[in-house]
Amino acid sequence: MKPCYVFGNWKMYLDYQESVDLAKKIATMFSTPPEGVKMAVFPSAIAFHRVAEVLSSTTIAVGAQNTCWVEKGAYTGEVSAHTYRDLGATYTLIGHSERRHIFHETNHEVRQKLESALSVGLIPVICVGETLAERREGKVDETIEAQIRSAFTEVSVPANNAIIVAYEPVWAINTGEACHPAEAERVHALIKRLVAGLTDGLVVPVLYGGSVDVHNIAEFLAEESIDGVLVGGASVKSDVWFDLVSQAAA
Ligand code: PEP
Repeated sequence: MKPCYVFGNWKMYLDYQESVDLAKKIATMFSTPPEGVKMAVFPSAIAFHRVAEVLSSTTIAVGAQNTCWVEKGAYTGEVSAHTYRDLGATYTLIGHSERRHIFHETNHEVRQKLESALSVGLIPVICVGETLAERREGKVDETIEAQIRSAFTEVSVPANNAIIVAYEPVWAINTGEACHPAEAERVHALIKRLVAGLTDGLVVPVLYGGSVDVHNIAEFLAEESIDGVLVGGASVKSDVWFDLVSQAAA
């Protein structure tokens, strides 16, 4: 049975103590790991180390929300992929829509961050997605293709093939307006075809993100090309998270 990914992006929703408290709660809740579910949380940079320590005795992985594209140097405010790896990260988000649209990250920077993450053995979760304007103009496939081509053209796929893509339509993030599961399925299938074509047939897990909650998660996970979910707002309440993971396990 292929695993179902349930990833929680805590963004900047929680302060240090709230992050540690949530980590402790979910460590207790999932002392018996749910079968078939790969769970990971992405705390803020400042809470990362302590959250990783709290979760180290569980099967819940931790990831970085963002990593720099260079290992060391004069990059004020940045944190490198290798520092996160040394502190216990398994994954890193790359090119989250908030990074692309609030912090103006380009496809070129996303590619640089991808290479840096791969070079230190982190599993990148490359986020792609169209804006509302791009959707209205009928440019969904064009936008996704440009993002995927930029990330995957001539990339050195790691020996374990561990690269993940998250399809997160920008207009669906944090709006309560999720993409229709059938449309998400169509875009996921497109992403899988594009990645396979740009590599030597690499099969990547593709997660859906954008206003996933306890009411719609099952519909997304029922779709063939949707391998899991990346959840923002609904991931920072322990009871909601428990429900989401339980539905994924079911
Ligand atoms: C996200 O930040 O990746 C996300 C999907 O957020 P939300 O679930 O809040 O829409």
